[in-house]
Amino acid sequence: MPRTIAVANQKGGVGKTTTSINLAAALAIEGQSVLLVDIDPQANATSGLGVDPKSLARTVYNALINNDNVDSLVIETGVQGLSLLPSNGHLAGAEVELIEIEDRTRRLRVVLDGMNHQKYDTILLDCPPALGFLTINALAAARSVLVPVQCEYYAMEGLGRLMESIERIRQSVNPDLEIEGILLTMYDARNSLARQVTDQIRSHFAGKVYDTVIPRNVTLAEAPSYGRPVLLYNMASSGAQAYLSLAKEFAIHGEKSAR
Ligand code: ATP
Ligand code: MG
Repeated sequence: MPRTIAVANQKGGVGKTTTSINLAAALAIEGQSVLLVDIDPQANATSGLGVDPKSLARTVYNALINNDNVDSLVIETGVQGLSLLPSNGHLAGAEVELIEIEDRTRRLRVVLDGMNHQKYDTILLDCPPALGFLTINALAAARSVLVPVQCEYYAMEGLGRLMESIERIRQSVNPDLEIEGILLTMYDARNSLARQVTDQIRSHFAGKVYDTVIPRNVTLAEAPSYGRPVLLYNMASSGAQAYLSLAKEFAIHGEKSAR
């Protein structure tokens, strides 16, 4: 079975998509077979991998709502070993349409279970910035959740709410859901507040925070406009090197938890 991880934080703009794309690409470059599922109607993971969301007739929406076979919806990307289950704006409708569907919180899980599993080592789910049905479906389908956190003042407050939601998901649809790790993003070492917030998060979530910290790096923000993960855009950049380091940590954790 693949290792399925939701990349989630209801706070917007904290680096979920940047992490999904670049961790997925780094794992693929290390030799894994990876599926990135874009479960956000903003479709930033889709466009960031060079696929125009508007050009797509069928997306993850068709699997969730119309039961289309997932394997037929998956697109190969420019990165060998990295496949994409794309999204576009139509997915916004699913947030409402799911309410009418029986077992509305388990749709994504059913969809992914119906897929050819042998194909993938890791599945990453890039969530929207909300705790609506799409994120709940991702948390219900995942084995664990990776939480990108921006090193800023309100970070802890948002994390508290996310942890409460994770606990509710555990008590309802997914009792085994684990915290894969908390990832500090957009870190600026010159900013003393960022250092304080980092220390606070590390002491509060001891053992759960990745050693790797993603620095604020403009190359990470530029790469999506070229439709590429940063590793294929500027391998030497501090952002690319940070995501490679995260992929190594992530793989070691995977080996430990598989035992
Ligand atoms: P949303 O909640 O809207 O889905 P998100 O959590 O997926 O947002 P991203 O889209 O990954 O966040 O990042 C938000 C913005 O910050 C983007 O423009 C992205 O390019 C930029 N960004 C992300 N990480 C970094 C970084 N480490 N350094 C500089 N810019 C970054
Ligand atoms: Mg995003």
